[in-house]
Amino acid sequence: MKVNINEDYIRSAFFGLQDALVSTTGVVVGISAGVNDKAIVILASLVAVSVEASSMAAGQYSSEKAVHQMDKTGRHKDSLLLGALIMFFSYLGAGLIPVLPVIIIGPPKSSFFSVAFALTGLFVVGLIRGKLTGIRPLRDAIELLIIGGAATAIGLIVGYFLKV
Ligand SMILES: [Zn+2]
Repeated sequence: MKVNINEDYIRSAFFGLQDALVSTTGVVVGISAGVNDKAIVILASLVAVSVEASSMAAGQYSSEKAVHQMDKTGRHKDSLLLGALIMFFSYLGAGLIPVLPVIIIGPPKSSFFSVAFALTGLFVVGLIRGKLTGIRPLRDAIELLIIGGAATAIGLIVGYFLKV
């Protein structure tokens, strides 16, 4: 499948999706381990996702701007603002996935589902990315599952020992 979307937008979207699934899960499960109040966990998670989505969008804008300024080939025709918006909504959308079980079930039982949802999300993101690039989708999906899963595990271990 040949896709005619600017590669910078694709990178922005996948970076946002992957990062949101990994870091939000750490935050959600970490907070759930220390706080048993469902409303507080939901509030804190939503604040974290929103702040992080904005920060990632700002980071996307400024880092891409530097790339554009250094680019002498004129290959970068993408819009910095659109790239930032894609990052924001990718992050926000994917970041809500591990928060959903907290809203539906509530902590601490929801933590298992937050992790399961996030890992499933990573697998699906890997599959879609593999389909877009056309190179071994399943291998891509498993790779993302392992990398993302390892990052999530580190977040959970740190959260557990610090009792965030
Ligand atoms: Zn660009």
